[in-house]
Amino acid sequence: MLMSRHCLYCDKVIDELPLSFMLEDDPLCTECRKSLKAKWRHIYIQGCKIYYLYDYSSFFKDMLLQYKEGPDEALKIAFLGFYKEYFRLLFKFYDIVYVPSTVTKSKMRGFLPMEEIMKPLGAQKYAEVYLYEERIQSGKNYKERQKMRSNYYLKKKIDPRKRLMIVDDVLTTGSSLLGVYDLFKDKCRHILLFCLANVGEKTK
Ligand SMILES: [Zn+2]
Repeated sequence: MLMSRHCLYCDKVIDELPLSFMLEDDPLCTECRKSLKAKWRHIYIQGCKIYYLYDYSSFFKDMLLQYKEGPDEALKIAFLGFYKEYFRLLFKFYDIVYVPSTVTKSKMRGFLPMEEIMKPLGAQKYAEVYLYEERIQSGKNYKERQKMRSNYYLKKKIDPRKRLMIVDDVLTTGSSLLGVYDLFKDKCRHILLFCLANVGEKTK
């Protein structure tokens, strides 16, 4: 007997395609997958190339909100979906550094959203990044953005031979991602910057 699969996000029954046994199962139905509109593009912020997979559409926003604040931890496999294998190959030789969220937020959720999303890639986490200050107004004006950008520190000595991928969920001004990048940029030659979704050009 065939069991029907349900979309992890909208719960609709997933119509299996004739050749779906040849593809990695996607936990989302075709409609949800389409609405996510994966792009895999890059933009430059202050001369730094930042890759992203999605536009920060209202659909993406709602799904991320349900995942993070629901919290609906099961959704963790929906974001990379069938791009997982592609990412696994692409970042095979990279360790991951995550842009940290505040301790209060992490405790409330009981899980680290971006780390759970990236886990299936099997990449090592290179180092923990810490925040000097837990609460900074995020990026409303230049001064606050600069403050945010210098709000990070490490306790680990950096190995210059490492290839690192610095990762965050949503790219807005870029201050947090670039703030973490600042910790490594003079020490490592191979660094990639990656965000799951990009809010858009108008905010830069
Ligand atoms: Zn769906």
